Amino acid sequence: MDRHYLDHNATTPLADGARAAMTDAFDVVGNPSSVHSEGREARAVIDRVRRLLAERVGGEPERVTLTSGATEANNLVLHHAAEAGWPIFVSAIEHLSVLDGPGTKTHLPVNETGVVDVVAVERLLPVSPAEGEAAVPFLVCVMLANSETGVVQPVRAIADLVHERGGYVHVDAVQALGKIAVDAVALGADYLSVSAHKFGGPKGVGALVRVVPNAPEITPMLRGGGQEKNVRAGTENIAGIAGMAGALTLLDERMALGEEIRAHRDWLEGALCAISPNGVVFGREAERLGNTICFAVPEIAAETAVILFDLAGIAVGSGSACSSGKVSPSHVLEAMGCDAETTRGAIRISLGPETVRADVEAAAAAWETIVSRTRKKNAVAA
Ligand code: PLP
Repeated sequence: MDRHYLDHNATTPLADGARAAMTDAFDVVGNPSSVHSEGREARAVIDRVRRLLAERVGGEPERVTLTSGATEANNLVLHHAAEAGWPIFVSAIEHLSVLDGPGTKTHLPVNETGVVDVVAVERLLPVSPAEGEAAVPFLVCVMLANSETGVVQPVRAIADLVHERGGYVHVDAVQALGKIAVDAVALGADYLSVSAHKFGGPKGVGALVRVVPNAPEITPMLRGGGQEKNVRAGTENIAGIAGMAGALTLLDERMALGEEIRAHRDWLEGALCAISPNGVVFGREAERLGNTICFAVPEIAAETAVILFDLAGIAVGSGSACSSGKVSPSHVLEAMGCDAETTRGAIRISLGPETVRADVEAAAAAWETIVSRTRKKNAVAA
């Protein structure tokens, strides 16, 4: 059976250029901390990715810390804030690596379209210091684009408020990089997280960028050999890092397909809504990533839909967190004030550069079958 992979927000297929870069890197013998030629060859792989990432998102190569992915990058910045005793504010729709990361947090609400409420943020943040008084630092985490709805967040407006009041801004740009422009400096980010496997790179590698020099240096979580300028000890994952570099060099090509991806997404979204006129598209009224559909009908539970799609050869995600086989309702949709019944049905369909018209047509056809079978079953039961 043909497979149609429509879960790119969960992870992306490895790009050919990233695979080739990894294959070459497997032959790099040295430890990057060693001073001999072999070591220096490994060090060059790391230096290159730092340069490519800084060129792409802003900041300087020496302020890029390579990690095992964005979960670690997000935890690093929160760990720093918690250790330093900074109050922490996070949007209610952040990834669980932020929401469940270190520290006690105040949640920043979102409106019903899935956009962080800037007026509420203004009300909740600590007040500006009086003249002559030192500001008490605090941390605000706001993602650039939400993984479930694709809704793009007003990061710059929030960053301006945070900076006015003496705080620091962390931006999780994981879902944005490769889909929309990410300019950390223009966004007002002090720290920014990325993850290679969301833009054609391998799983298990990412980075935390300390964007501006006046953002405090990060306290390490992992201590040992002093790698990554003492921010993250441990011998670096050279093959993974080379793969991330390979994927970064392909980002322009990836971005160039954005309009095509959006056209496929819009076609599929239109088809789903035509088949299910009672369907809800979450975040549709807001500015959204062009690849994402978060869709629900009340009569079909997400876990059922995901399985039926899978049996039809189509991989989609559910708009809910799934751990240890247990599907829990989406905290993102809950934060948007969606009722529990609709939230139960939320599936996420996310397209990528490999997506072709046949993929979205197959998804629409599968949905038509799922819906008509459910209607028949419900009619028999009634
Ligand atoms: N942040 C966001 C917005 C994500 O979507 C994800 C992964 O789904 C992560 C962080 C975690 O990234 P990683 O898989 O690299 O740990």
